[in-house]
Amino acid sequence: MSRTPCVLTDCVPSKTLIATSDMMAALQGAAGLGLRSDSGAASAFATVDAPRLYSRVKALARAQSGDVAARLAAEGVEILPGTGRLAGPRTVAVGDTLLTADAVLVSTGARPRLLPGAEPDGERILTFRQLYDLGELPAELIVVGSGTTGAEFASAYQALGSQVTLVSSRDRVLPQEDADAATVVEDVFRRRGMTVLGRSRAVTAKRSGDGVVVVLEDGRTVRGSHCLLTVGMVPNTGGLGLAEAGITLDSKGFIPVDRVSRTQAPGVYAAGDCTGVMMLASVAAMQGRIAMWHVLGEAVQPLNLSHVAATIFTEPEIATVGVSQQAVTSGEADALVVKLPLATNARAKMHGFRDGFVKLFARRSSGMVLGGVVVAPEASELILAVSVAVEQHLTVDQLAHTFAVYPSLSGSITEAGRRLMRPAESS
Ligand SMILES: Cc1cc2nc3c(=O)[nH]c(=O)nc-3n(C[C@H](O)[C@H](O)[C@H](O)COP(=O)(O)OP(=O)(O)OC[C@H]3O[C@@H](n4cnc5c(N)ncnc54)[C@H](O)[C@@H]3O)c2cc1C
Repeated sequence: MSRTPCVLTDCVPSKTLIATSDMMAALQGAAGLGLRSDSGAASAFATVDAPRLYSRVKALARAQSGDVAARLAAEGVEILPGTGRLAGPRTVAVGDTLLTADAVLVSTGARPRLLPGAEPDGERILTFRQLYDLGELPAELIVVGSGTTGAEFASAYQALGSQVTLVSSRDRVLPQEDADAATVVEDVFRRRGMTVLGRSRAVTAKRSGDGVVVVLEDGRTVRGSHCLLTVGMVPNTGGLGLAEAGITLDSKGFIPVDRVSRTQAPGVYAAGDCTGVMMLASVAAMQGRIAMWHVLGEAVQPLNLSHVAATIFTEPEIATVGVSQQAVTSGEADALVVKLPLATNARAKMHGFRDGFVKLFARRSSGMVLGGVVVAPEASELILAVSVAVEQHLTVDQLAHTFAVYPSLSGSITEAGRRLMRPAESS
């Protein structure tokens, strides 16, 4: 099992790669903004130097990991390299060393799920942790799985210049997300030349000569130079002595926890991906903080998942917080909805952004902001305004009376608030 922190292999490297692919995507729109390259080809504005890109990604991740280690050392935390397991009440064994404590926090994370019949070889058939050791950009990349990780890498590699085929077992990409947002992103994917295969389940991926061949459930085959597997994560919960400690894993192997991160065993807490609560770095960190506040006997607010802001770093990005469209449509949340296309925003026009929208949900009776969806470049930054409104129980009137800069994308958020002040005009 890989023992490298996710700062080194998952979240940080993928977002660093995406910083470069975002730049490439922006350059592809350069002609529309009045720039001309000598050859006239969009690709002439920049060419990807894959070895340099990957070494930047790895160096940045190592530096970030070093910063975290230095911060821990400065706080007086002792780091003991090794594999730990529970070995009795409030006791952890690392090799021959036994550590006792008032409380133990298990945060062993998760690893990429593998498909039997598509074993990664680190050269042509890859997990996302193996991408950064390639010496080249995949010429034809087949991405298997269209959840968050698959969509992010498909978007990034298409912008970097790979010919991407995205194999999605569902009707549309990002099946768990806001359907309007997923539709925008899928349309952008297709317009940029990506092949999106919906309702297509991959059963095997094998090397074939200099490339790979992926076989789908219905017998069709897809050929490419490389195949990237993004079919979910499985928790690292084996061999930890959890059963002996009195902890029964759930049906998917995750550690059940309550909202203050307690497991079934006294003095043993768990946080992060190994709990399967919501596989996000921000949620993992909050679960860990809550656990420690609880151990210290401080007044602690239990984890509130309904206020988690999350982003899918495709181009454009999808950022969400609070209630979902599905909850509104099903009647679970009694809310008014407004959706403003980005194409009507002056700043978006200036930048040539056409794809995206701001959607806001507000309680029908009181006008309290319940949530929102932003699909836009840097939606991950824009969503904070909606997050603050949700967390602080602000109303659409309060949002509407907040000054936004003109021209700005965030102006669409205050404008959405204004539209919801007049229910007759809302959809
Ligand atoms: C490609 C990708 C991109 C992502 N992007 C984002 C993002 O943009 N934003 C976001 O919020 N989240 C993102 N995530 C999710 C995020 O990375 C995880 O939710 C987060 O890392 C979970 O933290 P964790 O501490 O639970 O687990 P991890 O970060 O996986 O850390 C667990 C650590 O425990 C170690 N370990 C395991 N077993 C033992 C043992 N027995 N003894 C000692 N050590 C052990 C592991 O080696 C690892 O170092 C992304 C995930 C992936 C896969």
